Amino acid sequence: MAYDRNNIFARILRGEIPCKKVFEDSHVLAFHDINPQTPTHVLVIPRGEYESADDFAAKASDAEIAALLRAAGRIAREQGLAETGYRLLANHGRDAHQEVPHFHLHIFGGRDLGRMVAKPAG
Ligand code: 5GP
Repeated sequence: MAYDRNNIFARILRGEIPCKKVFEDSHVLAFHDINPQTPTHVLVIPRGEYESADDFAAKASDAEIAALLRAAGRIAREQGLAETGYRLLANHGRDAHQEVPHFHLHIFGGRDLGRMVAKPAG
């Protein structure tokens, strides 16, 4: 599947749609989620065109991968989450309900986050 240059995060990267920015460098942009699920909910995205965790892991350079994880750690620390705890999450594909086809890491924190994944429905 080809990368969709009109996905919402591509448009945020181009400055066509505003975001509440928390961090940026040459490889990474991070901003608050528009529909936060926790008191702190930040999205960390690569500037490169990677549609998912699978795509990013397979094709991104070592520098891009390192930059993304370093940025996530730094942002979590700066948001005051390193002491109390936080969760990093990347949804890939259908079973994980990935909505936006540009790879992103979620940083969740600011409250007790409960168990790791939801129980199966039914
Ligand atoms: P996914 O399910 O793909 O892992 O998560 C996509 C996330 O992007 C959701 O948490 C959703 O609230 C967030 N999101 C969708 N559209 C926008 C937007 O226009 N701006 C921001 N800041 N977040 C968005």
